[in-house]
Amino acid sequence: MQFILTGTASGIPVAHRRHASVLLRHGQRMVLLDAGEGVSASLLSQDIDPVLLDAVLISHTHADHVAGLPLLLQGMHLAEREAPLDIRVPPGREQWFRDWFAGLYIFEEKWSFPVVLRPLDEEIRVGEELRIRPFPNRHLDRVRELAGRHGIPADSFSFFISGPDGGAVVSSDIASIDDIAEAAATADLLIIDSTHVAVGELEAYMTAHPELTVVCTHVPPELEPEAGRHRPDDASGASHPLLFAHDGMRIDLENHQ
Ligand SMILES: [Zn+2]
Repeated sequence: MQFILTGTASGIPVAHRRHASVLLRHGQRMVLLDAGEGVSASLLSQDIDPVLLDAVLISHTHADHVAGLPLLLQGMHLAEREAPLDIRVPPGREQWFRDWFAGLYIFEEKWSFPVVLRPLDEEIRVGEELRIRPFPNRHLDRVRELAGRHGIPADSFSFFISGPDGGAVVSSDIASIDDIAEAAATADLLIIDSTHVAVGELEAYMTAHPELTVVCTHVPPELEPEAGRHRPDDASGASHPLLFAHDGMRIDLENHQ
């Protein structure tokens, strides 16, 4: 299976990165993890037709993870997609998404394809071989009380993906490395939020798990000097333990079992 990092920015807009999204591809199957702003254009720039996505999973509803979703749907409609699209969102937020879409004149009854909106509350099977297990993290804990006063839950998820080539954790946004430490210990690949985890913590975790490939995404501006020095295609950075993502970066997970 292959991961394409289609959006690697943090929540701060920058010129050279789009906001958070990761494409998971295995054979003909394609699943998008988060849909930050610019995701449709980013997929197209990677020669991937967004119309062909099987599912979109939203880890949480911060703007940098969800703002690209309506235009993704609009593109599918204008391309006259017919296949249902599976969209999984944090539990209790389904109606908010329906209301949001309706506010953008995305009315289910008039669209070329059915949108199947369901909560992220169980393992998701994609085709015969891929399994995606969402698990909760503490990213939104700090806003839980205020969110509650506004009548909305504050749930946020990371993903464990398993397939014939091994296992991977895509952290999305987390509160600290503790949120994914246990899950990533059994994985071959960790694609991790580098805004909310200190580089030193990550390096310590990698030292304890030398078999794990770690790729830092959600790259904040203050880490750009580091990211520029240690791009995976920069041989001079090869000895550095951390790889920083850039938009369009592809990671193949093969024969890990
Ligand atoms: Zn974010």
